[in-house]
Amino acid sequence: MKWEGNRESDNVEDRRGSGGGGFGGRSIGLGTIAIALVASYFLGINPLTVIEMMSGGNVTSVQQAQTPAGAPANDTETRFVRTVLADTEDTWSALFRNSDATYAPPTLVLFAGATPTACGTGQSASGPFYCPADQKLYIDLSFFQLMRERFQVNSEFAQAYVIAHEIGHHVQHLTGIDEQVRRAQGRMSQVQANNLSVRTELQADCYAGVWAHHANQARGIIEQGDVEGALRAATAIGDDALQRQSQGHVVPDSFTHGSSAQRTRWFSLGLERGRIEDCDTFKARQL
Ligand SMILES: [Zn+2]
Repeated sequence: MKWEGNRESDNVEDRRGSGGGGFGGRSIGLGTIAIALVASYFLGINPLTVIEMMSGGNVTSVQQAQTPAGAPANDTETRFVRTVLADTEDTWSALFRNSDATYAPPTLVLFAGATPTACGTGQSASGPFYCPADQKLYIDLSFFQLMRERFQVNSEFAQAYVIAHEIGHHVQHLTGIDEQVRRAQGRMSQVQANNLSVRTELQADCYAGVWAHHANQARGIIEQGDVEGALRAATAIGDDALQRQSQGHVVPDSFTHGSSAQRTRWFSLGLERGRIEDCDTFKARQL
């Protein structure tokens, strides 16, 4: 992915201190954390719940990083995140302008260990997540390391896709879709509510593709192999792939993020056409 030298966003709040966080109490395997992290990121449930489920309970809480953040970090990974965020700001601002709306950019919070959010305590093991109540994206960069080591996804563009997916949730918040979904889910069975969650997630994937389409058109960010890398990420983190990894079989009704094939399909659709209106997963007969 070509991004060096492009604009960097100032909407980054760096809460990483030198102290870092960590799991207190009994030790948990990296594999457990990995699955919990990815599962919670893509299923939207508290990672500690997953860890407790997987390790039989009694996991003590994650300690919070106590050390205040020092000077703004300027390492490559931080600059990369700032640059991708700036690119989403420029892209979505233009797309919103096209429909006579104004894009209010979110803040991206970098943290390590745990951090307070308007959606409760954000845990390192949650992976990247978006909190609509404070309109902030929370990212512990160790998630990218996990993508590399656990899922063999070593691609900057795949990392950008993860950020762009969270930005997709912010767009859903700005357009009121998330609120509509929440209200509708209150009147449904669990299976129907899960189906709506899948559609919400696939739309965020499609929006990530829309971003990539326009960012590439404007700044030529996509290099050879990049799309394959992002699709590999979408495949590795589909609900069916995660379920197979964690329990050995697949239960479609409990999908809340969509299968690998669905995630790949909607991201590709957004990427190819670059049109927001093509991302109406709620009207789609077939996902
Ligand atoms: Zn999501």
